[in-house]
Amino acid sequence: MLSSLLEQLKPTAATLVAVSKTHSEAAILELYEAGHRDFGENKVQELQEKYENLPKDIRWHFIGHLQTNKVKYIAPFIHLVHSIDSEKILKEINKRAKNEERTINCLLQFKIAAEDTKYGLTLTEAQQLLENTYPNLTAVNIIGVMGMATYTSDEQQVRREFQSLKNIFQELKANYFASKADFKEISMGMSGDYQLALEEGSTMVRIGSLLFGERQY
Ligand SMILES: *Cc1c(COP(=O)(O)O)cnc(C)c1O
Repeated sequence: MLSSLLEQLKPTAATLVAVSKTHSEAAILELYEAGHRDFGENKVQELQEKYENLPKDIRWHFIGHLQTNKVKYIAPFIHLVHSIDSEKILKEINKRAKNEERTINCLLQFKIAAEDTKYGLTLTEAQQLLENTYPNLTAVNIIGVMGMATYTSDEQQVRREFQSLKNIFQELKANYFASKADFKEISMGMSGDYQLALEEGSTMVRIGSLLFGERQY
């Protein structure tokens, strides 16, 4: 599955984040040994344990809702936080990154789905954050956006939601990051909808069950 996915991603140059939440270290090592390095987790404690036990050149992506009191545990090593959904969490990451003498790359998460269970910023909140808060933060680097589409078989709806994220990306790029080449990531697409996401301009797909099988909780 890994090689056929990578083959599909090749023409798009999108990054594959293998979402390993709930799956064993052995399952992760299998992909690692096949050369894969980007893995995604959504629980701090689980991520911390896996980080400690697995090779240190893995690039760990945090993809779940992050609580401020847990940032300190992942600040020393996290590669990319996909899920900035408040000003508060961005400030806390900045503080902990400073303590670690590193810069942490982040994506702004937007609520693009119709379901109200998903976390994320509105465009107005993001604009306020970028105008009032972000200019004062020196240890976080915003490199793009992330979103999750509605879980539905309605392809047109999913497509429209991905397009709305792409539009948000372009709007922010033009207004706040025009001279910053590294603002370039659009993290969208999961096992069920990654093909649509790629067609709509995704640069990063987050795929779990297709690679690891169904999750058992
Ligand atoms: C679990 C999860 C995924 C992967 O979901 P699959 O359907 O298993 O591919 C992607 N993104 C986020 C934010 C997730 O929580």
